Amino acid sequence: MTDVPGWKKTGIITVEELKKFGLIPPEERLKKGPCVIVECPEEIPCNICVSACPVGAISKEKIYNIPKVDWEKCTGCGNCVLICPGLACFVVDLSHDDYALVTVPHEFLPPKVGEKVILLGRDGRKLGEGEVVRVIERNKTYAITVKVKPELAMEVRAVWKKMK
Ligand code: SF4
Ligand code: SF4
Repeated sequence: MTDVPGWKKTGIITVEELKKFGLIPPEERLKKGPCVIVECPEEIPCNICVSACPVGAISKEKIYNIPKVDWEKCTGCGNCVLICPGLACFVVDLSHDDYALVTVPHEFLPPKVGEKVILLGRDGRKLGEGEVVRVIERNKTYAITVKVKPELAMEVRAVWKKMK
C-alpha cells in the first residue's frame, strides 16, 4: 500500500509539506515585499489563478498540474486571493522589521480597516489578534490584509471578525 501524505489524511497542509512542493518563496523574496503563496498541492483541473494574475506570475504546464509561481514577477496585488475558489492563495510581506502583513481570503462580512480581528491558522486554531490594514473586494469575496507578529506570517491563513 502506498503511503498517504499527512496533508491528504488531515486535509491540513504544513509549511514543510508546502516547501516540498516548491510552493513557499525564499525568505529573501518575502523580505523584498508582498508575494503570493499558493497553497494548492492537489492536481485539479483549475487554472483560474493563472488567468487572474495580471503579470503572469502563476502558470501551469497542463491544467491539472499544481501551480508554478514566478515569485519575482508577483506584485502581491491580491487578485488571485480574491478569485481562487479553493481559498488557497495568500500574500505575505516580510519587508517590515516589527511586523508582517498577511492577506487572506474572506467570504463573510468584512472587518473594517483599523479593526482588530482574531487570527486563525490552517487548522482553525486561534493564533491571537491582528489589525486590519487593507480590505479589497470582488463579487462579494474579500481579501483582508492584517498586521501580525513576524513569526505568525506563515501560520495565519484566515481571520475572524470579533463579536462586539
Ligand atoms: S498576488 Fe497578484 S501578482 Fe501575485 S500571483 Fe496573485 S494575482 Fe499575480
Ligand atoms: S485558482 Fe486556486 S484552486 Fe484553482 S489552481 Fe489556482 S490556487 Fe488552485
